[in-house]
Amino acid sequence: MENTVVGAFGHPSLVARRASLRRNKKSSRLPAGAAASYRLNSPSRRIKAVDTNSQDLNVHLEARAESAADTINPALKGSVWPSPSDETPFWKKEFPTWDVSVEVPADVEKDSDLMHIIHVTAEMAPIAKVGGLGDVVTGLARACLSRGHTVDVVLPFYECIEKRQITDLTLITTYNSFHDGDWIPTNAYRGEVSGIPVIFVEPSNQFFKGKYVYGGSYNELEAYIFFSRACLEWMQVTGVQPDIIHVHEWQTSALPLLYWDMYHQLSLKRPRITLTIHNMEHYGECRQEQLSKCGLDGAIYATTDKAVDDRTIGHNPERLSLLKGGIVYDNAVLTVSPTYLKETLCSGWLSSTLIRNRDKYFGILNGIDTAIWNPATDIYLPVKFNAQKLEGKKFCKNYVQKGLGLPVESAGIVEGKDVVNGTQRKVPLVVCITRLVAQKGLHLITHAIKNVEELGGQMVVLGKAPDDRVEREFKDLADLYNEGPAIRILLMYSEELSHMLYAAADMVLVPSLYEPCGLAQMIGMRYGAVPTVRRTGGLADTVFDIDDHSNSHMANGFVFDGIDEGSLNGALDRAFSLYKNRQEIFWLRDLIYNCCCRTR
Ligand code: ADP
Repeated sequence: MENTVVGAFGHPSLVARRASLRRNKKSSRLPAGAAASYRLNSPSRRIKAVDTNSQDLNVHLEARAESAADTINPALKGSVWPSPSDETPFWKKEFPTWDVSVEVPADVEKDSDLMHIIHVTAEMAPIAKVGGLGDVVTGLARACLSRGHTVDVVLPFYECIEKRQITDLTLITTYNSFHDGDWIPTNAYRGEVSGIPVIFVEPSNQFFKGKYVYGGSYNELEAYIFFSRACLEWMQVTGVQPDIIHVHEWQTSALPLLYWDMYHQLSLKRPRITLTIHNMEHYGECRQEQLSKCGLDGAIYATTDKAVDDRTIGHNPERLSLLKGGIVYDNAVLTVSPTYLKETLCSGWLSSTLIRNRDKYFGILNGIDTAIWNPATDIYLPVKFNAQKLEGKKFCKNYVQKGLGLPVESAGIVEGKDVVNGTQRKVPLVVCITRLVAQKGLHLITHAIKNVEELGGQMVVLGKAPDDRVEREFKDLADLYNEGPAIRILLMYSEELSHMLYAAADMVLVPSLYEPCGLAQMIGMRYGAVPTVRRTGGLADTVFDIDDHSNSHMANGFVFDGIDEGSLNGALDRAFSLYKNRQEIFWLRDLIYNCCCRTR
């Protein structure tokens, strides 16, 4: 993983909206059976030769995108444009691998002091990913491997993990680990995921069974406390003594307590423990007797200087916080951006604990895994591209537009004129890929949907809501908008589609109320999508407003401060007006280039 140094409008009434949707529906959807006539190398699509330095740059790119199937990826020749009526959705198709990368990866310097690092984690991309935690674990592991360290990731063997994504899966140890008075037979497997060695811990009880990473019908808190002990037990049984055990989030925060108060007294002497806090909102609320199930005495942690949740002092019963225990018991505590570090020292109930442990608390900006997130080699893209060869990006945009039944600007652009205004049409595509939870600024996302439509853009939201009420709200919005010409709201989790959308996007929206680091804006930039973000946490550390003249050499996006709709409107207005009124050369050549290159 490379550190990324980057980086009000009136609402139409429902009745008017539905009427306008009905009017637009006909023209916006691909005609039934249209797929067959949209051959990628259709000779009917004229390629217009233009000067790349002229204001016709977009026309030029469009024309080149049309021929991209031939020029960029010959294997696509004769393929068919996707359509919403395809039996297999376009993001599930397999594309030929093809690398247009001209980047020669810089030789990574090896560290002189080499260590064995074991990550103990609840998530790992791509096999067990729910959000950024999974991405970061994989990226960090790969980065340390490339600098010469020995790295293992230890992960619960969730039933939902697709085994075909694991290479060389082998059972290596069967041992017992303690839970609630019993020793539970447990298997440890070794395998490789995306080039990274992984140990999978599989207890023989019901823990980690179910269709998803989280939300199975077992007690999640007890399952992760069990997992924390099972990891140490495995090290003890096999004699593995890493230099660093790196735990993440509350799920594995019982491990440092178990280490210092139990296993360090036994045979594990060498490791030191690091905790990364990816999001302070989740702190592992726990009753004393639940912690006791792993063999520790929960009562001894119920003090202010250990793990008691300060807000529950005097309540009956008081609660513990695994995350707080982790902060106290770890050798080093990291969080994922310098700004989030400051924010967490200033507010929130854990701030007093963090201040007490300030000398071992560091804010280090996350990066993205540039091997997985690389538009020049991305297996999920029909055509690859990079900062020097952006034609493929235009192609991906058209591919997604056609696949989702959104009007493709090429019809207007190839002619060079908008039928209505007599001007060239420029339709920016905004994407928002996120867990649909309050933190992500749900009211701003729903407002952006209306605003983007009014501004004449297109928007795709890809999101999953863990809360049924939120899911219903977005489902209603999807019913309202998805047949129309501008908006698509897709309520699901799809790794493949997320790659395709980042590649297709002109802009990526991240309007979070708070954001410890945020990866969506970095991934967007890596794929040449210009971010519009709220200035908070890691977003403030990675996105620099193009109108901030004190920092123009860093400019790579649009930033707003307030949590109100007007603030968002202001940023989107600026982004749209720059995109549409181009400054075309600036957007395509400088801004996108700035984004792509800062995330290499
Ligand atoms: P968080 O960790 O709070 O969810 P981040 O921005 O740090 O937010 O990371 C989110 C990661 O999860 C990104 O890789 C993003 O692309 C991915 N993601 C979020 N929602 C979805 C979804 N519905 N489908 C696919 N990927 C998603």
